Amino acid sequence: MAKIVIVGGGIAGLAAGIYALKAGYEAEIYEKNPVAGGECMGWNRKGYHIDNCIHWLTGTDPRTKLWEVWKTVGAIDENTEYADTNRFYSSRFEGREVSLWNDLQKTQEELIKAAPEDEEEIRKFIQYVEYAKSCVIPSDKPLDMMGIKDYIEMGKEMADMPKVMKEYGKISCGDLAMRFKSPVMQKLMTDYLPKEYTAYSLLVSYATMASGNGGIPIEGSLAMSMRIVKKFKEMGGVLHTNKPIKKIIITGKKAEGIELEDGTTVKADYVISAVDTSFLYGKLIDESYMPKDLKEAYRNRYAYPVTSGFQVAYAIDSDFSGEDTIFFDCEPLRIGTNQFTRMSVKSYGYDRTFAPEGKTVLQANVVQSDADYVFWSALTKDEYIKKKAELAEELTKRIVKEFPELQGRIELLDCWTPLTYNRYCNAFHGSYMGFVTTVGNKQMRFKGVVKGVDNLFVAGQWVMSPGGLPIAVVSGKFAVQRILKKEKRSIAI
Ligand SMILES: Cc1cc2nc3c(=O)[nH]c(=O)nc-3n(C[C@H](O)[C@H](O)[C@H](O)COP(=O)(O)OP(=O)(O)OC[C@H]3O[C@@H](n4cnc5c(N)ncnc54)[C@H](O)[C@@H]3O)c2cc1C
Repeated sequence: MAKIVIVGGGIAGLAAGIYALKAGYEAEIYEKNPVAGGECMGWNRKGYHIDNCIHWLTGTDPRTKLWEVWKTVGAIDENTEYADTNRFYSSRFEGREVSLWNDLQKTQEELIKAAPEDEEEIRKFIQYVEYAKSCVIPSDKPLDMMGIKDYIEMGKEMADMPKVMKEYGKISCGDLAMRFKSPVMQKLMTDYLPKEYTAYSLLVSYATMASGNGGIPIEGSLAMSMRIVKKFKEMGGVLHTNKPIKKIIITGKKAEGIELEDGTTVKADYVISAVDTSFLYGKLIDESYMPKDLKEAYRNRYAYPVTSGFQVAYAIDSDFSGEDTIFFDCEPLRIGTNQFTRMSVKSYGYDRTFAPEGKTVLQANVVQSDADYVFWSALTKDEYIKKKAELAEELTKRIVKEFPELQGRIELLDCWTPLTYNRYCNAFHGSYMGFVTTVGNKQMRFKGVVKGVDNLFVAGQWVMSPGGLPIAVVSGKFAVQRILKKEKRSIAI
């Protein structure tokens, strides 16, 4: 039985491991952290659980092929319970509040009532969100292994997507906002995603929620990662935690295996890298192996930005579950290189497993850019700790100003920055998603192969923009299918 060694135990690495076992290979995963899961993570503080990933999990509709993939890796099944949330998010501005409800009809009525001057644009937006429900993530096999029949089937499934791309594929969220006259509508269009993101990303994200294909599994992100780990182990996989890998050993055109930071070497017939690609190329293997497009994306920080967050979690001494995710104006605050005048909070009251009875976890997340990563990196350790504490306090003041009922009931649990993601997962500039799809840039997509090395494959969210959990999980499956194809075996797994 050929042995596949997988570097990185995030969702991509775990999925690769499970599909490898399913295909009859021996599979071993090497993960640098004490727990697998990578960015699909959560942790405990003072009796509360901080869930730090799934805002929506694309592929929770059992009629989709992606659902099959999630089921195969043990993430969800027919009995999975989902959070009872009913809106994507809300925006408050100048005394008005509008929401993107999962119910599109309700949203349309509410938005027209709040901004009658934008009725035509609102109806159009809702109609196109309806079209965007047809967007699917190819989950059967890699695009380059698809035949004409597969493309015809995908074309039929996504029949309405070209309309969305034509109307919203070449404008940014900022441009979209300017199509509306009402200031609160303008805020609604730019609050969730940074304004340079393509507008269609917003429509597709909202459509995923609205179509019932973006549920949030109860118990959150860490529990989902642990279900996948359990499945991997039950199938006979070996997971090594606390095992950082130093390099992938390459001789000529062959990856011989891996070398751990402690100097141990492990032999393999195939190696799958499931770490951040910025770490693979340059650290685990020579940078010269990096595909040209990817190199260009890393070089061009303007066209291919990445985003991270300055995040704060709080314990709320009351049931604060009604607030979901809400954006509002705040006193100007400089975090990193930008001054913010808007911020958001998200209540985790939808999942009672995160907090003791009658209490709630609340989080604030301020978007951080490439430049902000540089800002945080330049601080000394003491300055970093001081800055984090100072900014967390400033955010707390602003939250209490917006929600006076929280006065005396809000306690800081934890605070983290783009540096945290870099330290924990070797994430490029602390980004927890792939490259942002901006207007004018090419969607990043590359085959998970390493030119010049026959038995080394690449999985992970960076193989296709904009990344996220669905790309991570299918990329793990696809890496194994590439190995099967190489061995001239059936790729149907
Ligand atoms: C706050 C937040 C919110 C998010 N919300 C969503 C959401 O709502 N929906 C969604 O789809 N996605 C969301 N994501 C993104 C999602 O978490 C990621 O896309 C996904 O987890 C990436 O998986 P991955 O396996 O590709 O990479 P990673 O999770 O980065 O896994 C890589 C693994 O490799 C390990 N590693 C790195 N270097 C080494 C080494 N030298 N040796 C051994 N191991 C190594 C890392 O420790 C890590 O475990 C969110 C992420 C965050 C942080």
